Amino acid sequence: MWEWAAKGVAGYEQMTNLPAPLREWLRENVPFSTLSAREQHTASDGTVKALFTTADDRPLEAVLMRYRDRRHSICVSSQSGCPLTCTFCATGRMKFARNLTAWEIIDQALHFRRIAPVDHCVFMGMGEPMLNLDAVLAACQRLPDIGIAHRRTAISTVGWIPGIERLTKCEMPLRLALSLHAADEALRSELMPVNERYPLSDVIDACRAFYERKRRRVFVEYVMLAGVNDRYEQAVALAKLLGPRGSGEQPRMFKVNLIPYNPTDSSYEGSSRDSIAAFKGALEARGIQATVRLTRGRDIDAACGQLAARVPSRA
Ligand code: SAH
Repeated sequence: MWEWAAKGVAGYEQMTNLPAPLREWLRENVPFSTLSAREQHTASDGTVKALFTTADDRPLEAVLMRYRDRRHSICVSSQSGCPLTCTFCATGRMKFARNLTAWEIIDQALHFRRIAPVDHCVFMGMGEPMLNLDAVLAACQRLPDIGIAHRRTAISTVGWIPGIERLTKCEMPLRLALSLHAADEALRSELMPVNERYPLSDVIDACRAFYERKRRRVFVEYVMLAGVNDRYEQAVALAKLLGPRGSGEQPRMFKVNLIPYNPTDSSYEGSSRDSIAAFKGALEARGIQATVRLTRGRDIDAACGQLAARVPSRA
């Protein structure tokens, strides 16, 4: 199967080195994919967003990003919709359907493998991967077969501690990304209601334990919301939260990705470029490495937090 995918084959018809009756039999008896591709859009920067439905008609989206350095990264969904209700995210506002199976996750990767030699994967599409970790890890086991090494696979979470703990014990050298967005409990609870269940301080402790065990830096995602979480004092608080706790501790456990806010139906506004730059400067001045995430695919609503899977009605 993997070889076929690598050759860009999209159906049994094209496997012409198999006898015709076998191809026919396969077509009737073995579904080529667990997903149907319903729509695909390419953004001006080359980003591709695909909308799929599962066999029971649940919608999900996945994204392919191509970078100048030839990296090809896919952003996959772990659930159709999301049960969490982060206030700035479009996925949280669509109806939660269900967890995806491991094959429904792998088939997203295979879809893009037919378009480009994908080599990085982030679980930053729809859903909370830690709420579906069995299927997510089963999919991760197989990703190296299509060219995506564990070290180039990142699982992003709102801070679901049991999941972070499981990933810490997991043998695969997967990366962990934490969607943080605020360095104080009250503001974080406002933006991400899940903070009431797993408070910030406990989440950060779980991430530190992940680093201690795996020696893999944790990426911190921080979406920049104008007048909400982008003030100087908030950068100082973030640096304090993520900085070393004792003299013996590694100063570089975390790397912050500042994400320009991508418009959704919510009432937030994105921070200006200048305030993002100032925030980054304040972190770096305190020894915290920070980058500003490139915004990809915004013109086709494929950017972070914009996946909402509006399925066209069937003609
Ligand atoms: N549930 C997991 C996986 C989804 S990742 C998690 O939250 O980590 C999707 C990322 O996009 C998260 O970091 C999320 O906070 C961010 N995001 C959500 N809405 C966004 C928006 N409107 N603009 C920019 N980033 C957004």
